[in-house]
Amino acid sequence: MTIIRCASCDGFGWFEDEIGSGIDCDWCTGAGYVYRDAAGRDLPIPRHEYAQVAAELEALEAERLREMGYRGGAKKPWQQQIRQGTQLGHDPYTDGKQ
Ligand SMILES: [Zn+2]
Repeated sequence: MTIIRCASCDGFGWFEDEIGSGIDCDWCTGAGYVYRDAAGRDLPIPRHEYAQVAAELEALEAERLREMGYRGGAKKPWQQQIRQGTQLGHDPYTDGKQ
């Protein structure tokens, strides 16, 4: 089983809806990455398996961030000190959700 970037959210794991709150991507259930099986089907990575594939996800995330022009660690924008206080500094997993 290979892990690929989610085709639906392009690795973000979520979308911003029209009122500006984050909603998890259904395709990857918020991971930003999915399994691709031998038959070419994409399957969400079950949450209980995240720990097993953490290193691989981190490497994929680092690559994605490099593509987007970020340097340094594999961090989501809102985990980066430099983004604090900007729109990207908000964690969509905690903001706008009850
Ligand atoms: Zn997705």
